[in-house]
Amino acid sequence: MFDCAYCERPLLCGDCGVPFVPATPEEYEALFRRDVPVACRGCRKVLVCRWCRTPYDGREGDSDDPDDDSDPPEAGD
Ligand SMILES: [Zn+2]
Ligand SMILES: [Zn+2]
Repeated sequence: MFDCAYCERPLLCGDCGVPFVPATPEEYEALFRRDVPVACRGCRKVLVCRWCRTPYDGREGDSDDPDDDSDPPEAGD
């Protein structure tokens, strides 16, 4: 069982509850590199820690990455 890199509890998918087991060394390293997204092997969605709800989506907190092509926030209504 691997621990969440953020809250150090056993890392379970927040969506399907499957324990995360890295299939490759790269995936294992991705757990500790907050700029590399990790997908759940059960539901194939972005892994979200069941306990602290932190997504392993490759986005480091709320920092701004100039190369990140994310959607801009919608302007009002
Ligand atoms: Zn966690
Ligand atoms: Zn899952």
